[in-house]
Amino acid sequence: MSNRTFTMIKPDATSKGYTGAILDQIIKAGFSIKAMKWTKLTTEQAGLFYDIHRERGFFGELVEFMSSGPIVAAILEKENAVEDFRTLIGATNPANAAEGTIRKNFASSIGENAVHGSDSDENAIIEGDFFFSKLERF
Ligand code: GDP
Repeated sequence: MSNRTFTMIKPDATSKGYTGAILDQIIKAGFSIKAMKWTKLTTEQAGLFYDIHRERGFFGELVEFMSSGPIVAAILEKENAVEDFRTLIGATNPANAAEGTIRKNFASSIGENAVHGSDSDENAIIEGDFFFSKLERF
C-alpha cells in the first residue's frame, strides 16, 4: 500500500471556477499536497497520458476535452491514498457517484467529470512522474 496518489482537476471544473472548492474538499478529507501545478495539456500530451484508452470509442473526445483548457495536476499524500481518493471522488459517471463525493458535487457527465484519480499505486507513480520532476515535489 502506498501513501501517494495523483490527481488532476479537469478543464470542466477549472473553467467553472470550482478549483478552490475542490482543493478545499481534498484537503479537508486529510490529503496533503506534495506537488501541484496549473497547466494546459496539448492534444499530444493528453493522448499520451490516456494512452491506455487509445482503442476506446471515447478516446478522441477525451483527448479533445482534456486539452480544451487549464488543469491542476497534483501529487497527494495520505495513508491508503489511492483507494481513499477514489472513494472521495466517486464513480466515473457522476450520475452513479455517491452523495458528497467530488464528482457528485462538481461533475456534469461521464466525460466531463471534474477530477482524475489514479487507479493503482503503480499508475500513481507513472502519472506523477508525467507531470513533475524531482525538484517539484516535496
Ligand atoms: P476513471 O478512472 O473513473 O477516471 O475512469 P476511466 O479510467 O474508465 O476513464 C478515464 C476517463 O475517460 C474518465 O474519467 C472520463 O473523463 C473519460 N471517459 C470514460 N468513459 C467515457 C465515456 O463513455 N465517454 C466519454 N466522453 N468519456 C469517458
